[in-house]
Amino acid sequence: MSDQQVQASTTLSLKGRTALVTGAASGLGKRIAEVFGDAGANVVVADLRQADAQATADEIARKGVKTLGIAMDVTSEQAVDDGFAQVQKQLGAVDILVSNAGIQIVAPIQDFTFANWKKLLAVHLDGGFLTSRAAVRQMIASGRGGSIIFMGSVHSKEASKLKSPYVTAKHGLEGLAKVIAKEGAAHNIRSNVICPGFVRTPLVEKQIPEQAQELGISEADVIKNVMLKDTVDGEFTTVDDIAQAALTFAAWPSNALTGQSLVVSHGWFMQ
Ligand code: NAD
Repeated sequence: MSDQQVQASTTLSLKGRTALVTGAASGLGKRIAEVFGDAGANVVVADLRQADAQATADEIARKGVKTLGIAMDVTSEQAVDDGFAQVQKQLGAVDILVSNAGIQIVAPIQDFTFANWKKLLAVHLDGGFLTSRAAVRQMIASGRGGSIIFMGSVHSKEASKLKSPYVTAKHGLEGLAKVIAKEGAAHNIRSNVICPGFVRTPLVEKQIPEQAQELGISEADVIKNVMLKDTVDGEFTTVDDIAQAALTFAAWPSNALTGQSLVVSHGWFMQ
């Protein structure tokens, strides 16, 4: 990196850039969208329901940046392409994509319905493909390139019981990110994955009683002996930990950091 680039990376400003975050009305996506707003980005909050997306977009707009709240089901090619077209029209090309929308469904494989398998893969993998394809198209057309960040998981690296489609999908996103890193380099497009450990968002709160029932143990034991068992300190990762990692990837000024995955998990998984 040049001296100028080093300086830019230490201030971590996203001023003048347009960032689109999917699943940004809740949990990790919401905190990432807020932190990007704090860093000066114009922020597009995309989620299933317009009202939820708009409410988060309105909160972020109070920081003095431009925002847009859009309904976008990431499993729908039409909804994704229409949403990106709306962004292009109102805020210009997307410079940063955080493909974050996700769901969780837990069951042993012998009980997993094919419908639930397909539903989960559609949100994580179809959603990852459709949103990154739309972003890459805009990043090439703008001539500016950009940064694509996929929300992976420790489950991009490790398996856990009851999570066959989730572990499959999160491993798959690593492959997609690496292909985009190779194809995107000529266009100054970077592509990386963040792999969080357990973070207490609505997605995880829902799993605690479900796993307790499936595994026949208490909710306290699910937290201590399943979710946080292999961390170095028995601590949950936080939405702020993940938002700071996303900001680093978004602001990184060169192709030095591309095709990578960063595990943020209190040492649950060590590379
Ligand atoms: P969350 O449930 O708080 O938020 C997920 C958001 O995604 C919701 O607002 C939901 O409406 C949205 N969403 C769901 N399906 C969608 C679709 N088809 N189109 C658009 N939006 C959709 O969950 P979270 O914990 O913040 O999870 C965000 C991402 O982080 C997910 O990809 C998840 O797999 C990943 N992750 C979470 C954890 C964790 O411990 N919370 C750990 C590792 C990875």
